[in-house]
Parts: sequence; structure tokens; C-alpha cells
Amino acid sequence: MKERLQKLIAAAGLASRREAEGWIEAGRVRVNGVVAVLGERADPAEDRVEVDGRPLGGQEEKFYILLNKPTGYVTTLRDPKGRPVVADLVKGIPARLFPVGRLDLNTEGVLILTNDGDLAQHLAHPRHQIDKTYLVRVRGALSAASQQKLARGILLDDGPTAPARVEDVRVVGSHTWFKITIHEGRNRQVRRMCESLGHSVSRLKRIRLAFLDLGNLASGHFRHLTPQEVAQLK
Ligand code: URA
Repeated sequence: MKERLQKLIAAAGLASRREAEGWIEAGRVRVNGVVAVLGERADPAEDRVEVDGRPLGGQEEKFYILLNKPTGYVTTLRDPKGRPVVADLVKGIPARLFPVGRLDLNTEGVLILTNDGDLAQHLAHPRHQIDKTYLVRVRGALSAASQQKLARGILLDDGPTAPARVEDVRVVGSHTWFKITIHEGRNRQVRRMCESLGHSVSRLKRIRLAFLDLGNLASGHFRHLTPQEVAQLK
């Protein structure tokens, strides 16, 4: 049965219908080798539908993206309040990518996006204890006692935090910079840990997730993970 192309593309999980319409208008979709026009229909059983030269159907190609998330972007695909979303930064990839875990609106740094649900689940599962390292700047001087508390665990309203690694502590003017490595991924965890010690966080950047760091990836830019990196994450 013939269906509108945007419906077929959405059903294949590559994009929303609206996104797919944009792809058709941009000339990225072909039916039997001919660039499609908006409104065209095709029968997946008879016609060969391609997006960017890749056939619809069959095994969906998996994408693994490392984004250097800037502040001011929401870690979702669409925001009801109309704020910028991380999906805006990874446009042009013919798949419906979703973020693995969350970074707050004003947290920057390493964010993985993928359409591989298995890997996303694996990375998010507490059992795997994936290390995440954050560069933190707090207001005030972080005392040695507070550093120890961060490292040993802090009682938050959703329970005590697991031991963490605190490193490279530097007091600069009226602020303290340090690195903290945690493997839990609770909501606003680092901010809440610091706030419970009386220090508000003025900058928070995830600089490493497992073995993946930002390298020289500029803020707002992304790169594809290599097959070796993907294999190592699994
Ligand atoms: N901890 C936080 O408080 N915020 C983040 O975005 C990530 C970790």
C-alpha cells in the first residue's frame, strides 16, 4: 500500500514526520533512485526509498555522537517552552537520536546521543557504575573537611551519595575549582552535593564519561564515536 514518504520515514524511526518533510524538501529522499517531492507516496514492498542514499527498512544504521553541550541547551529533543535543545546541535543525522542521561540546562560538556537503545540503557544502568568526571567551580573556598565529605558521601534528600573522587582543588579568588568523579547519575547531583555544604555551583562541566573526554571538541560541536570506542563502551 502506498503511504506518504514522511509517514514511512517516521515509521522507520528515523525522524518525526515534520523532520522527514524537511528532508524531502531538501532533496535528501529518493524513491527508486529519483529525488522525491513533498506529497509523494511510496509502497515499501515495491519501491526503494532512500534517505541520504541509505535504504529505509532493514537494519537501522546506528549513530553514536559525542556532543560538547554548551550551557543554555535543554537535554531533550523538543522543549515545550521553546528553549534551545541539544537536538538542534546534531542536525543532519538521518536518525532519531536521543541523549544518554541528562545534563542540566546550565551544565556543559560530554553528552552522548545515540539511536542505539541497548547502549543507552547499558550506560545509564547503575550496575555498570560508569565514571563521570566534572569540572566544578563553586563560590567560596572549599575546606579540606568539605572535600572529604564530598569524597566520602553526602546525605541528600534521596539518600547518601556513593564515595566520589575529588581532585585538583584550587582556590582562585573568591571561588574554588575542583574535579569530582561520580558514577551515580542522580538529578542535579553535583550541584546538590555542593549546595548541601553551603557552596553554590557557578560552573559545571562534564569533562569525561568513562574513557571519553572532550579532546579539542569545541563547545556546541560533536563528533562520531569510532567503532573501537563504541565497542569499548558496550
Ligand atoms: N550533576 C549536576 O548537578 N548537574 C548535571 O548536569 C550533572 C551532574
